[in-house]
Amino acid sequence: MPPEDSHLSERSEKAAKIIAHPGNFKVCEGCDSIVAKRVAICPNCSGYRFDDESARVVEQATLLASRAQTTVTHEDLQ
Ligand SMILES: [Zn+2]
Repeated sequence: MPPEDSHLSERSEKAAKIIAHPGNFKVCEGCDSIVAKRVAICPNCSGYRFDDESARVVEQATLLASRAQTTVTHEDLQ
């Protein structure tokens, strides 16, 4: 199995966990990152506005999982 496939399944696995428990997460309004619900400030953009609606969290997790297929990560370049 090529390295990018294992990386992708790792991302999908993470997304699956988020989709299974959307109540534990929220989506940053600033950068669309999914963060844990207890987080007060977004670690990516320092934003403090979040959407904690489960439907939005699931939608964003699905998007991230599919986007992983085309994203070139730091690991892929090594
Ligand atoms: Zn953010």
